[in-house]
Amino acid sequence: MISGRTRLLALIGQPVGHSLSPAMHNAAFAADGLDFVYVCLDVESDALPDAVKGAVALKLRGFNVTMPHKRAMIPLVDELDEGARISGAVNTVVIEGSILRGYNTDGGGMVMACEEAGIELSGQRVLILGAGGAAAAIAVAFGGVGVGELHIANRNLEHAMELRDKLRRAGLRKVEVYTLDALEEAIIKAKVVVNATPLGMQEEDALPIPAGYVGGGRAICDAVYLPGTETPLVRLARERGARVAAGDRMLLYQGVLAQRLWTGREANAKAMNDAIS
Ligand code: NAP
Repeated sequence: MISGRTRLLALIGQPVGHSLSPAMHNAAFAADGLDFVYVCLDVESDALPDAVKGAVALKLRGFNVTMPHKRAMIPLVDELDEGARISGAVNTVVIEGSILRGYNTDGGGMVMACEEAGIELSGQRVLILGAGGAAAAIAVAFGGVGVGELHIANRNLEHAMELRDKLRRAGLRKVEVYTLDALEEAIIKAKVVVNATPLGMQEEDALPIPAGYVGGGRAICDAVYLPGTETPLVRLARERGARVAAGDRMLLYQGVLAQRLWTGREANAKAMNDAIS
């Protein structure tokens, strides 16, 4: 029930019509009787600053940010958590009066997806494919749970080196970078492989790692999700009996973490999961 006191939350992006986030968040609010409602707002890039000012003026409790605005949010908030600062991408904003706090819950979402899948991270050697916003957020969060070594393989080596340097400055000492030419060397050493490239979003995409290296005691994490189905990487990893943290689980748990920031209480993850399953 929407009341006169209902607090508004939103997803700001473009496009947003396909998003599962309203179903996911509103299911938890309904299940727990919380007086919040979550809607999607389609915002053009050049209107983002005005939209953010409007959100403050309208006293929204906060909002999520998705493509293409995650990076553009950085200068529009007053404070950043470490994941947002290092990744240069904000996916969650909490509004406290006129103060906007920017967070990145994507990395924490992947950590929770790994915990659920029984994927051990502490002390492990992890290979992350990609060096963009999701890769950086995952690297920061994995650092926070005591990953042993982080190896980053990226198409553009300079982007990987920039991320490595930021992570080292943040205190993560054991970070190495690889070009995609040296991918096999990096995979062989890894216990956990994370796909944080968009490979898998399109039918015709190649697997992010050669098929021969999927499985073999190596856990697979895939940030990519395909509504209603599995990515080819996740499907192959499951067929080979590997532990898997799939992108839809990361999506669920980044939402759980965002909701915790807005409401100050544990989110109803079961209701959220039922809504998107
Ligand atoms: P991004 O910032 O644009 O970074 C993309 C990264 O992938 C870059 O390192 C890029 O390499 C690399 N890349 C792009 N195309 C490639 C290709 N064809 N082959 C090899 N590498 C390629 O994107 P992002 O925000 O990190 O998102 C990455 C993926 O994660 C997307 O599919 C996104 O939907 C997904 N994601 C999922 C969740 C979730 O909740 N499940 C959350 C966030 C993101 P260069 O540096 O060489 O350009």
